[in-house]
Amino acid sequence: MPKRDGCPICGEPTQSEFKPFCSRGCKDRDLLQWLGEGYRVPGEAVDPNAQTGLDTGRDPD
Ligand SMILES: [Zn+2]
Repeated sequence: MPKRDGCPICGEPTQSEFKPFCSRGCKDRDLLQWLGEGYRVPGEAVDPNAQTGLDTGRDPD
């Protein structure tokens, strides 16, 4: 039976570690997209690649 709840980015099965995404890559991508919208402010130059504070440094393994 088809699962409707998958990664909103690529549709892959969700991993509890990265819920509701399938991987940290998709999670980051979604977040960067979200930040990209919010940071689109004149005079505020923010490099998405510098926003690594979201990563706690935990290794799933
Ligand atoms: Zn994904």
